[in-house]
Amino acid sequence: VKVVLIATNIELQPLREAVARGTIDGVQLSPESIAAAYARISRSSHSVERLRREARLDVVKARQSNERIVFEMGHSSIAEHAVFNFDIEGVSRLALEELERSRLASYTERSQRYVMIGRDFFLPPEMQSVPGFAGRMTKLVDSLSETYRLLYQSIVGSVAAARKAGEMAREDARYALPLCTTGQVGLTINARSLEDTVRRMAGSRLSEVRNLARRLEEEALKVTPSLVRYTEAVPAPFEADGVTASGSSEVLRVRLLDSTPDGEAKLAETLAWMTGRAAVSPEELEHLIAGYYVPGSPHLRAPRLFELVDFTFDVRVSATCFAQLKRHRMATILAGPYDLGLGVMVPPTVARAGVESDYLAACRDAEGVAREWLGYAPDQAAVAAYCLTNGHQRRVRVKMNLRELYHFSRLRLDQHAQWEIRLLAQDMCGLARREFPRACAFLCGKHEYGDWCSGR
Ligand SMILES: Cc1cc2nc3c(=O)[nH]c(=O)nc-3n(C[C@H](O)[C@H](O)[C@H](O)COP(=O)(O)OP(=O)(O)OC[C@H]3O[C@@H](n4cnc5c(N)ncnc54)[C@H](O)[C@@H]3O)c2cc1C
Repeated sequence: VKVVLIATNIELQPLREAVARGTIDGVQLSPESIAAAYARISRSSHSVERLRREARLDVVKARQSNERIVFEMGHSSIAEHAVFNFDIEGVSRLALEELERSRLASYTERSQRYVMIGRDFFLPPEMQSVPGFAGRMTKLVDSLSETYRLLYQSIVGSVAAARKAGEMAREDARYALPLCTTGQVGLTINARSLEDTVRRMAGSRLSEVRNLARRLEEEALKVTPSLVRYTEAVPAPFEADGVTASGSSEVLRVRLLDSTPDGEAKLAETLAWMTGRAAVSPEELEHLIAGYYVPGSPHLRAPRLFELVDFTFDVRVSATCFAQLKRHRMATILAGPYDLGLGVMVPPTVARAGVESDYLAACRDAEGVAREWLGYAPDQAAVAAYCLTNGHQRRVRVKMNLRELYHFSRLRLDQHAQWEIRLLAQDMCGLARREFPRACAFLCGKHEYGDWCSGR
């Protein structure tokens, strides 16, 4: 066996300095040579090392080879061997919702739970072009920032004795922040996934998102012109549009719409087939699952077999809860529009600190500006969402298989999980457990894993 580490994502800055000093030829900094060498593996008898050396020494030829293999022959998977890291700053939380829809990518985002947020917001160009609206929006942001600070101080005052009072206060005060608040993200993504992301975002209804797509494309093209090419916008007829007011505040937090018929029987039948047994009874299935989990640790991955059982949920979440939910990349997450009819989520600490009416008044102000925008530009309903707060809600269809649900439960039923997504996870796991009590028996948070297992 020969395993050689030939590349890793190190920062470009020192390499650029070496190029400036003339120590390295700049063209060699492209990850295209690795993609080109790997592309040739399938049809060459030469060693990979030789293919890489040839590609590295003649990047122009490597680019031609990529273009032929990726674009003419359609082997787009070659582009997955080139990986980018991007710093992204000054982008609204609303735009980040669109960026982070790409499943095959990694994100780390500044948390509004751990960091006190200043008056950093994005004023959408669409609003700047309507006379007087920029001023209206700026006033709204100022008043929401004030409410945010008021909530923070009031919650800190009311939970002063609690451990991590500041964190608790930031966690809930943020419900008053608008979706135009800017964030920062570290993004890691391969060239193929980047191309898909750029195409999807280029078709967005928000000019901020379209602009972000172009910036990502420009930066990627500097080093990989041969791997990112089809970046024209794709139409978005299957996307939800902006903001509506059609829902009712009576909508349940979670409904289970459907699940795999006879899911446990399907697991048992497949297991019997895989292991060459005549049959696996429900009791044996239960026993096997317990035998897998009980001696294990909370970090144990659920077996792939569990992917055979699916659940589709209809959930009602605030924008801040959605921001967390959307990070579960393996799930199918279809977000509906923000819906003023659903009302806003009120964090219990806000009510206990006696500032619920200030919070609700701020949310009403935000809705007023959003409705004004819809009056000016009904064809640009998506833009109205910039005015809304983290407390505004939407409905989301979530499809997860049992394996994903296990992972979700470990993180989101855990004591460190934020309270709203924890309630969501409790409801989702409770409904799933009612359907398939044996297969779902070990859905629990990381912190309770030991107790959970010893109770069985
Ligand atoms: C308490 C808490 C605090 C958090 N704080 C922050 C924060 O401050 N900032 C922030 O940005 N995020 C934060 N997160 C979100 C967190 O980083 C994850 O993005 C989120 O929980 C989704 O889970 P996941 O990444 O494990 O996997 P999912 O996307 O749910 O995927 C499921 C599993 O698939 C595998 N997988 C998926 N994609 C990849 C991949 N590209 N490479 C390798 N394996 C993969 C992994 O095994 C993963 O566990 C927080 C989460 C929690 C629970």
